[in-house]
Amino acid sequence: MLKVHSVESLGTYDGPGIRLVYFLQGCNFKCLYCANADTIALKGGSATSVEEILKMAENQRPFFGKKGGVTFSGGEPLVQARALVPVLKALKAHGFHICIDTNGSIFNDDVREALEYVDIVLLDIKHMDDQWHHKITGNGNTHTLELAAYLREKNIPVWLRYVLVPGYTNQPEALHALGKHFAGYENVEKLEIQPYHELGAHKYEYMGWNYQLKETPMNTPEQLEQARHLLSAYFREVVVN
Ligand code: SF4
Repeated sequence: MLKVHSVESLGTYDGPGIRLVYFLQGCNFKCLYCANADTIALKGGSATSVEEILKMAENQRPFFGKKGGVTFSGGEPLVQARALVPVLKALKAHGFHICIDTNGSIFNDDVREALEYVDIVLLDIKHMDDQWHHKITGNGNTHTLELAAYLREKNIPVWLRYVLVPGYTNQPEALHALGKHFAGYENVEKLEIQPYHELGAHKYEYMGWNYQLKETPMNTPEQLEQARHLLSAYFREVVVN
């Protein structure tokens, strides 16, 4: 059984085409800007079976077209890699396109097995500098970069995602480091810049947690364009979502 926080039908944001998106419960990070802070707790969520997920995907198949499919996001979906494997296996056997949106920090045999059934990994890079990464997420970035190297070795398609947070992740040297690190990765199809927003703040407050980015402004259009321009030197495609 998978522990599911929530489900989105007809999603257009997490992978190609129109998608059924499962947000799974539990995350091993605690990002300062998390928009889904209520998915972080490892306990909770609705127990959902392979059959229920397959049925839902079949119901939505007419909307998927050639590109769409099913995405597992969170939370961190690979926290539940062991329970995810039979779900992915069943979806793949029925011909569904599968994406996983992950922070990349969990890398074990279950994850390796899960990745055999995944068509595109949406890999969230929080920061290339380990200290900044720690400050932003509470964890280092070593495992994420190891997983990225594994995805390259296996030639599994990747869309990188990078949240641009003024004063935290938008330093030009950090963007150049991101570009230089991944420039030779042929499996990276594109980079998605995700502008920082405050949508997670009220959930932090609701949960009695301190939202540390209260004073952090949104990106200006100029800042987004500067980042897009700088990163375009390294990646085949850079989009601002
Ligand atoms: S990795 Fe994603 S779900 Fe986990 S805390 Fe960070 S933003 Fe939230």
